[in-house]
Amino acid sequence: MTAYPHLLEPLDLGHVVLPNRVIMGSMHTGLEDRLSDLPKLAAYFAERARGGVGLMVTGGYAPNRTGWLTPFGSTLTSHRQARKHRLLTDAVHEAGGRIALQILHAGRYSYHPFSVSASALKAPINPFKPRALTDRGVLKQIKAYVDCAALAREAGYDGVEIMGSEGYFINQFLSERTNKRTDRWGGSPENRRRLAVEIVRQTRERVGEDFLIIYRLSMADLVEGGQTWDDVVALGKEIEAAGASIINTGIGWHEARVPTIVTSVPRAAFTSVTAAFKPYVKIPVVTSNRINLPQVAEEVLARGDADLVSMARPFLADPEWVLKATTDRADEINVCIACNQACLDHVFAKQKASCMVNPRAARETELQLLPTRRTKSIAVVGAGPAGLAAAVTAAERGHRVELFEADAEIGGQFGIARRIPGKEEFAETIRYYRRRLELTGVKVHLGRRATVEDLAGFDEIVLATGVVPRVPAIPGIDHPTVLSYAEVVREGKPVGERVAVIGAGGVGVDVSEFLTTPVSPDLEAWKREWGVGDPTKLAGALAVPQPEPSPRKVYLLQRKTGKIGAGLGKTTGWVHRAALKNKQVEQLRGVNYERIDDDGLHVTFGPKHEKPQVLAVDTVVVCAGQEPVRDLADALRATNRPVHLIGGADVAAELDAKRAIEQATRLALTL
Ligand code: NAP
Ligand code: SF4
Repeated sequence: MTAYPHLLEPLDLGHVVLPNRVIMGSMHTGLEDRLSDLPKLAAYFAERARGGVGLMVTGGYAPNRTGWLTPFGSTLTSHRQARKHRLLTDAVHEAGGRIALQILHAGRYSYHPFSVSASALKAPINPFKPRALTDRGVLKQIKAYVDCAALAREAGYDGVEIMGSEGYFINQFLSERTNKRTDRWGGSPENRRRLAVEIVRQTRERVGEDFLIIYRLSMADLVEGGQTWDDVVALGKEIEAAGASIINTGIGWHEARVPTIVTSVPRAAFTSVTAAFKPYVKIPVVTSNRINLPQVAEEVLARGDADLVSMARPFLADPEWVLKATTDRADEINVCIACNQACLDHVFAKQKASCMVNPRAARETELQLLPTRRTKSIAVVGAGPAGLAAAVTAAERGHRVELFEADAEIGGQFGIARRIPGKEEFAETIRYYRRRLELTGVKVHLGRRATVEDLAGFDEIVLATGVVPRVPAIPGIDHPTVLSYAEVVREGKPVGERVAVIGAGGVGVDVSEFLTTPVSPDLEAWKREWGVGDPTKLAGALAVPQPEPSPRKVYLLQRKTGKIGAGLGKTTGWVHRAALKNKQVEQLRGVNYERIDDDGLHVTFGPKHEKPQVLAVDTVVVCAGQEPVRDLADALRATNRPVHLIGGADVAAELDAKRAIEQATRLALTL
């Protein structure tokens, strides 16, 4: 008897039976852009097929060059390419899986000067203005989709996903916001739907019945001028009639000011939208967004919100997600914490995607977990992300590992992050490592500050001793009103009603959110905060945001004159900045810190410190970066013992869990 009867129930689609209700959603990895990377992509998908997922969808492939996401980005436009893709589809089928190719035409989101759209309207997130297509031009785009689908079939794919959401090309025709046409492709809702429906209808005609057509339908645009519920429902019915096999849910355009996938979005936040849509069609409907655990997915399906769930990033984090759910080992799942740090942030920076908590993702051919030929005894000091990753990876390869941690619990900086409202998911990573330490038999010494003597006799010593908060040389820094971020977040020391936060890096921003948001909002409160309304009543599901007022007045300060939080991730920084604005956090840039005394924090502005200001605060919280902890490294080196220094202890300036976990994993694969 399984704990997930709905999730693991097969689904008969006529010509194919899916073994369960889990779809690995489309996620661009960057490996799609070069045919020479196909072996890597094949290994990536084959590993996930072996992990038991019902159906997978590739990253987006443009049906022609105007639809490119970026110059020379992925396309499927020739028989030669289709032949090469056989490598990938064969690998997936040999591993027992099924895979559909996503056809993604970016329209006005194309990052190049030859982009096209319904109307010549520039997107706010793209410097390039698209050209409005002529009637003939529209027909050419439809043909490109249909040809691409036929090539996907030739390449051995089990189907295609036609990307109709997230504000891309098709979505641009559907919405009045971007479609100002007056011909047969614009004006009335029927005319705006014509492109989407024709693409599906002509594709079905071309590919035959025994080929999956998934249509990703934008059920809540989350932008001004987005589609009404009547538009959405009518489109769904017409897409079904045109021959789609499955309808997938899309939520929010890329230019929307509502976060839809970052970690602070509550789990399964948008499945109610799919639930509202589902009664209008008979074909299976998929829901998505912030579903990351089997229990969450099971609840969604048991409630009847959808027939299937789609998850993209959770399969980067753990290729065996389904296998672990099936074999009652959900506590072993390496959960996607929705940080975007190594996946979407990489894609936007034109780097290959991977995963912060699983650096092997999309690097399966490079980072192979092979058993060691010679078992060694390895000491790992420090149980933060770096130490944990090193310990479990080394142990999994067959080494005898002992882990020393001075604290009473494992987790390091993640123990701070998980206490920040909206970052609770970080606790899942700690849970995952705790379980993996048990399974791999690592001997864990908690509350034990390792000494040189403790480490005698080990073949290898890995030091992941981490960092301590930096104490800036500001007069009065030892005043009783001053606290470090660790004292505030980890130790819960009392903080007054007026607070100055020194340092506006990732930690300063987190602490400001911690101080202004006493508890994480539940789903309804979160929707009010960001202005997510009832999609059946409000066009684009947009309501007026009603943020909860902060219980404190917070000033966030930095010496630099640039944007606050400039170093934050591309896909998450804007959410943090908007959250600070919602809570009326006052951001002060170009600050000189003069002193701290009973009156508060004295600062000046200007190169000659000419403009003074006193911030009459009760508490000053220092978030001025970190210093590495290397005492043990220095002591061991003095005794000529070789040590491996990793994580924050190695480079504190870029204290960064993504780098730490990757560095630790790579090291452990070589020991
Ligand atoms: P950080 O990003 O290096 O920021 C430290 C801040 O302290 C800077 O804003 C700096 O700004 C200020 N500062 C540095 N030295 C100072 C001094 N002597 N006196 C006064 N101010 C000083 O460090 P962090 O905030 O601790 O974050 C560490 C790392 O954790 C980051 O690299 C980030 O990757 C990661 N992180 C990210 C997030 C997130 O994405 N939300 C959250 C937490 C942590 P000025 O020099 O301009 O004053
Ligand atoms: Fe999830 Fe973060 Fe990994 Fe991306 S990098 S898959 S968001 S855990």
